[in-house]
Amino acid sequence: MSACRHGGMRVGHPVERFYIASYRFDAYLLLHRLRQEGIAAHVFNEHMQSIVGDVPPEVAQPQVWLERPRDRMRAEAVLAALQSERRQSGSRSCAACGEDNPANFELCWRCGANL
Ligand SMILES: [Zn+2]
Repeated sequence: MSACRHGGMRVGHPVERFYIASYRFDAYLLLHRLRQEGIAAHVFNEHMQSIVGDVPPEVAQPQVWLERPRDRMRAEAVLAALQSERRQSGSRSCAACGEDNPANFELCWRCGANL
């Protein structure tokens, strides 16, 4: 009974809000990059845009949270790299689902349609 299993899902509450995204792809791109770097992160509020009425934008927009505040420095570097890539591209809307995608994507991140 006393065995403590390591490597299982440890459900902790993200404690540090790191980034407020303008678009969902923005939040998810960052999330994927962070995870590639071994940084535990989560996206919140991704579904709230269709629900909320008079909630301030910073609440309604997708947010990236870090599980460990000590990852913030590395996360900042990941974000900076992502943003410099973004400046060279821009975004466009998916004809199939209307979601915004980075201009250098060939497939919609959301529905997989050709862009
Ligand atoms: Zn799409």
